[in-house]
Amino acid sequence: MSGIGVARVIAIVNQKGGVGKSTTAVNLGAFLAADGHDVLLVDLDPQANATSGLGVPRERVRISTYDLLLGDTSPADAVEPTAVSGLYLIPSTIHLAGAEVELAGIPDREYRLRRALRDVQFSMILIDCPPSLGLLTLNALVAATEALIPIQCEYYALEGLVHLLDTIDLVKQHLNPGLELAGVLLTMYDPRTNLSAQVEEEVRRHFGDRVYRTVIPRSVRLAEAPSHGKPVSLYDPGSRGAQAYRELAEEVMRRGQQRAALS
Ligand code: ADP
Ligand code: MG
Repeated sequence: MSGIGVARVIAIVNQKGGVGKSTTAVNLGAFLAADGHDVLLVDLDPQANATSGLGVPRERVRISTYDLLLGDTSPADAVEPTAVSGLYLIPSTIHLAGAEVELAGIPDREYRLRRALRDVQFSMILIDCPPSLGLLTLNALVAATEALIPIQCEYYALEGLVHLLDTIDLVKQHLNPGLELAGVLLTMYDPRTNLSAQVEEEVRRHFGDRVYRTVIPRSVRLAEAPSHGKPVSLYDPGSRGAQAYRELAEEVMRRGQQRAALS
């Protein structure tokens, strides 16, 4: 677990459920690790989909993100290896559902995750956010250097996006000036429908080069992999979904290097 100095911390965020956050967290994480990066995935959703998707059954979790946020657990104790070499996990449990309320009573409530991750030595940290803009997601945005927004290529894809972008702006202004909107990711793209093409066009018109060139197709293999407790890189590395997340990992690294060269 050697670090390379300042880690990139990517919050995968969208208050809508079912847009591909957890799928992206698990599979982007797996391919970044396959490229040789030390990757930590922090599961910040009480539904624990990233945790179970990586083959860690919820009932087996002893130390979780809940303890990291509200206990005095050191992150080193909470980090677990996964079946993917180089990919580590801080798992979630349903206990995290109570954290929203418990955090509300604490003075430094927005900074808990940032503080907990301060001394963690990974080159990449991915945070899988819950489907809300509450205190858990705020903790992710305050801990992050980048936000990655998955958008599902479906009706109402852009609904709620203004509110999300406003939230990111507010966090940047008041809590975390280092936060950037790294990119918007089109997910569940179906080339057979006009709708997917229309959503893509609208999102690209609106966000320009903030949209990743890589588009994640709708793929049964991506949907099946979590039930086997595996990222698609292990479940079906030759599938189209795997290829897309492999490309996304490359693009995320390339863009990071470009940004570093500019700053
Ligand atoms: P979120 O974390 O935003 O709620 P998920 O990643 O859990 O969304 O995805 C919602 C559902 O859609 C899951 O059942 C998942 O397996 C499925 N899914 C996600 N991405 C794809 C895809 N590209 N193709 C097919 N199914 C997908
Ligand atoms: Mg999820």
